[in-house]
Amino acid sequence: MKNYSKIKLKKGDLVRVTVGKDKGKQAKIERVFPKESRVLILGINQYKRHRKPQGEGRPGEILILDRPVPAANVVLVCPKCKQSTRIGYRFDAGKKIRVCRKCDADVD
Ligand SMILES: [Zn+2]
Repeated sequence: MKNYSKIKLKKGDLVRVTVGKDKGKQAKIERVFPKESRVLILGINQYKRHRKPQGEGRPGEILILDRPVPAANVVLVCPKCKQSTRIGYRFDAGKKIRVCRKCDADVD
């Protein structure tokens, strides 16, 4: 069965990782990949890539890269109550506004 759940997170959101080696860490979302349901978070899910020397004057190096994580593995941290929370919605003049489910503050 396919899961068409839409990402509610946006670039710049502060999130907390709930799964994996970075569990418990908090950081801001750098990029959202809606099709893959993944988010890129600075400093989270990093991996090292060794690049071989590319001949004279270009020594090998180790690159540290961030890999996107499944959006389901992070939760939003509310900017107001600082708790990790699920995102709700309210409508204002036909506009969808994200709200914290815990304190009802606007997240956008
Ligand atoms: Zn809140």
